[in-house]
Amino acid sequence: MKQALKNVSCDPVCGFSITSHDERELKAIVMTHAKKAHHMDMTGREVEGMMKMVA
Ligand SMILES: [Zn+2]
Repeated sequence: MKQALKNVSCDPVCGFSITSHDERELKAIVMTHAKKAHHMDMTGREVEGMMKMVA
């Protein structure tokens, strides 16, 4: 089964953007980025809220 391609973009000032088929990988990368770059603890649910489907 093919998973949809999803993208999460940080704020434009930061410019961080990640695209992946793997939702779990996407969450892990975004959470690591938020922690390292913004000293921010994000939950998986918060990352889900930022996810956009890539056509
Ligand atoms: Zn960022």
